[in-house]
Amino acid sequence: MSSPNAESTAFRSALEVIRAVEPRVAGAIAAELADQRESLKLIASENYASPATLLAMGNWFSDKYAEGTVGRRFYAGCQNVDTVEALAAEHARELFGAAHAYVQPHSGIDANLVAFWAVLADRVEAPALKRAQARQVNDLTEADWFALRRELGNQRMLGMSLDAGGHLTHGFRPNISGKMFDQRSYGTDPATGLIDYDKVAEIAREFKPLILVGGYSAYPRKVNFRILREIADSVGATFMVDMAHFAGLVAGKVFTGDFDPVPHAHIVTTTTHKSLRGPRGGMVLCQPELAEQVDRGCPMVLGGPLPHVMAAKAVALAEARRPDFADYAQRIVANAQALAEGLLQRGARLVTGGTDNHLAIIDVTSYGLTGRQAEQALLDSGIVTNRNSVPQDPNGAWYTSGIRIGTPALTTRGLGTAEMDTIAELIHTVLSQTTAGANADGTGSKAKYVLDPAVADKVSRQASELLTGFPLYPTVDLT
Ligand SMILES: *Cc1c(COP(=O)(O)O)cnc(C)c1O
Repeated sequence: MSSPNAESTAFRSALEVIRAVEPRVAGAIAAELADQRESLKLIASENYASPATLLAMGNWFSDKYAEGTVGRRFYAGCQNVDTVEALAAEHARELFGAAHAYVQPHSGIDANLVAFWAVLADRVEAPALKRAQARQVNDLTEADWFALRRELGNQRMLGMSLDAGGHLTHGFRPNISGKMFDQRSYGTDPATGLIDYDKVAEIAREFKPLILVGGYSAYPRKVNFRILREIADSVGATFMVDMAHFAGLVAGKVFTGDFDPVPHAHIVTTTTHKSLRGPRGGMVLCQPELAEQVDRGCPMVLGGPLPHVMAAKAVALAEARRPDFADYAQRIVANAQALAEGLLQRGARLVTGGTDNHLAIIDVTSYGLTGRQAEQALLDSGIVTNRNSVPQDPNGAWYTSGIRIGTPALTTRGLGTAEMDTIAELIHTVLSQTTAGANADGTGSKAKYVLDPAVADKVSRQASELLTGFPLYPTVDLT
């Protein structure tokens, strides 16, 4: 443990130093802490990193170029970067029981790009080099190189559909993954809202993807990764899992056995800043046979590594290996279930009827609202959420019909199941008192809404009262 005042002193001193150069930046940093302290944050993808994690990022590691991997750098003088990168990778391997960890990706999207190109290199490029008896791409003839580029651009990916909770980087056209791969997606059973594994197997048999992707940003249930791996094996696909959202639940051993992706997938990607509660960043875990290709992430698709962020990853992963992190992960799920139960009891409709992870999706059409109207009305009332599609969403991806709520952040603050019931009451009050608005010509609007400001004010006050009992960063006093 650091001494009682160390954290306050550290942040206060940092602000003093920054203020002397550009006071507006120091002001914005302090204002951000104040805003976060006041907001009832139910954004499922956000969290609050520890002071140690935050402080590990603000230092001279930022000055270093360190292309390459531990012990094999293209730049001299990387011994200290080697220390933190090796530590972060070791903590990641131990925490997740992974054979190999690559901790350089700057974000979740970058981790996915590293994974896609590692698989393409292993399964398309390496065999082509072998056929041409070339050691590396520069040795290929123009004709062989042209053929390889076409082959690399002609591969298939199967992932979860966006409206069922998949992510844009799993082969959708607006993202580069959709431009790289011919993509198809699997959804959920309209009756239950759950993944229909027989259907996934059927699509896989017909489509024969190179990569089968599991993982999601907005699916409120466990996924059986053992079954998905069997499906991948049956069609010769590489099985990749993007656990960006639920890495904290894997780390905290809430998801074990068939529901732990690490032993089942060939390659696993994640962010480090969502339920895992580390710095903003990404990471790739993989089986030994993909390790060499994964380690080529920089400069294949990544810019130079961020050693200061790798230092923070090492700190956060060390925290996640402590027993209290498993307790935290259990509480995230208990809170999500209490919040879901509180909403159901008050008559709300949830996608799949509940949750067994850190998030729930409220289908707000039962309140006569679009996701956009609900999101704004909640925000007016001091409750921060985000709108989200529901399966087969009638309102499309912009307006949507759902509200996604998640508990990793509030659980870090210390809120428990009793508070979740209060929050369910606040959410239900706002949604049931909000009505859809009309356009100037009298037609129904998908964006406008009517909410009595007195209701919004009252809920805002109740929300901030609830938070006063659970101070954010209680060890940090900037005054
Ligand atoms: C959040 C998320 C990402 C992207 O993470 P960034 O760090 O924002 O790039 C990728 N995949 C999934 C499933 C996510 O939820």
